[in-house]
Amino acid sequence: MAIKLLSAIIMDVKEIGESDLLVTFFSKEKGKLIGIAKGAKRSKRRFFNCLDLFCLVSMELELKKNKDICFLHSCKLIESFANIRESYTCFVIASYIIELANLLFPVGVSDEVMFDLISKSFVLLHKRFAPEKVLINYEAKAMSISGYRINLEKCQVCGRTYRGEGSGAFLVYKGGITCLRCIRNPANLIIMQPEEIKILRLLQSSSFEISHIDIELNPSMLRRIRNILQMHISYILGTRLKTKKFIDSLFPSVQAV
Ligand SMILES: [Zn+2]
Repeated sequence: MAIKLLSAIIMDVKEIGESDLLVTFFSKEKGKLIGIAKGAKRSKRRFFNCLDLFCLVSMELELKKNKDICFLHSCKLIESFANIRESYTCFVIASYIIELANLLFPVGVSDEVMFDLISKSFVLLHKRFAPEKVLINYEAKAMSISGYRINLEKCQVCGRTYRGEGSGAFLVYKGGITCLRCIRNPANLIIMQPEEIKILRLLQSSSFEISHIDIELNPSMLRRIRNILQMHISYILGTRLKTKKFIDSLFPSVQAV
């Protein structure tokens, strides 16, 4: 098997025995992979300072046919995103970003757009860009890229196209909005203002435009959009992320209105 050189973000590192490491990473070219780094704990030359959580690296590896685990030959650090580790908020968000990517992408499903989303989100966290905006942008785009975007184009009950006027209601079990007249049971609904629907549409677009993120957003609107994304993610995944309680302690959610 040929040796490949991949760009990758380190997602998890576990020690095996005295000297080896089991590394999970999201590569630009091959998606999420798991590799074993033989002797990595001893080798200063082949794996110097690079097999740490969140690091962007250039990885030299060997993929084995019909095997889930590849062999890592060497690794070079491109960017450590050191500032992420120095802020509790950024660390929690970066950990959540990794956990959600891990759940959404099985091993070997390549997606360059997803790799870009993770690495660009890390760049923004490293630069101390508004962390809660990085978070909602990531959640919206990650769900969208993996095929679970919230449908904001038409009413999920009557099928009427939403033209950007008037409020809608988010219906979690339909994965989208409905017009207000189609609501039968108002429990567990969040009413969305046209401006919120417009912002969520921009956030869900797969192109990573800083103009979509660097927007004036009052705190209550930001929390409401995040609440919708949270409800959607929990419903789709059917599980609670381990990092969610830390996210919730940073950004308490608002009550559904
Ligand atoms: Zn309707």
